[in-house]
Amino acid sequence: MAVKEIFMDGKFIPAEQGVISVRTHAFAYGTGCFEGIRGYWNAEDQQIYLFRLREHFERLLRSCKILQISLPYTVDELIDISIELVRRNDQHEDVYLRPVAYKGDLIIGVRLHGLTDQYLLTSEPMGNYVEITGLKCGVSSWRRIDDNAMPARAKICGAYVNSAFAKSEAMQNGFDEAIMLTNEGTVSEGSAENIFLLSNGELVTPAPTENILLGITRDTIMKLAQREFGYTTHERIIDRTELYTADEVFLCGTGAQIAPVIEIDRRPVGDGKVGLLTSKLQELYFDVVRGKVADYRDQWCTPVYTQVPQPSAEAAS
Ligand code: PMP
Repeated sequence: MAVKEIFMDGKFIPAEQGVISVRTHAFAYGTGCFEGIRGYWNAEDQQIYLFRLREHFERLLRSCKILQISLPYTVDELIDISIELVRRNDQHEDVYLRPVAYKGDLIIGVRLHGLTDQYLLTSEPMGNYVEITGLKCGVSSWRRIDDNAMPARAKICGAYVNSAFAKSEAMQNGFDEAIMLTNEGTVSEGSAENIFLLSNGELVTPAPTENILLGITRDTIMKLAQREFGYTTHERIIDRTELYTADEVFLCGTGAQIAPVIEIDRRPVGDGKVGLLTSKLQELYFDVVRGKVADYRDQWCTPVYTQVPQPSAEAAS
């Protein structure tokens, strides 16, 4: 269904009116930051659950701080605006919300300070971002942006040119996705995903200081792996060749969800099939995000539509 409304400049407006000037600072210089948030449709509950909404907006505000953007909204207000937008769009399918905080001035001049900070939010239907049945990856010749040049910790609009270089190179070389290394040559992340390896029974992921975006899916997986499967994730430096000798590898992110990797640089990962822990995590993840696991639904899933009374509650009244 076509998107009806977006939120921009403090109000809900028809989607087709959501335009910015060609002179916009963030358009020319990439001076903005954003989030990608998924909402999952649960047919049984007739509900959209927005996954880890609070954590996404907390990260957005951290990105804003790094970019010297100050928004006139609290995390709670940003959450309310998001729920309201999906309701106004009357969406009843899987959606992707894209909040953007950016420098909106129509000026020439590269800087961060003394500019006008603006906020917009869109919500649109979205399916899978990458294949989730087995990716073939290539290690990119493009290195991940360094914290001292363009901090990956913040989800900066302009930084996605680095990701685009890597993704296109990978795809044009016949791979599905890129794995990027840091300038030091250790494993960082995918073009828009974090990475996990299972090696000799040890679950590992690059440390926060490896120029990664600190993914919310990454955090979700660390918690699920620990609580449900007894695996503690070790956040550490990972050598490139560990990619070739790992038993299981998967990429993860809001868009990618949990995407098993079955081949890296033409070498099969493990036996070249989706690994056991990866598939168990993937199955659980999809139940969790769709609000099918009560404990996690209460913690992580924000319902968009007003809850209908449960039959048992009705019967009791
Ligand atoms: N790294 C990068 C570069 C990304 O763009 C994303 C997607 N937001 C991720 C990791 C995964 O982050 P999250 O799980 O919070 O979506």
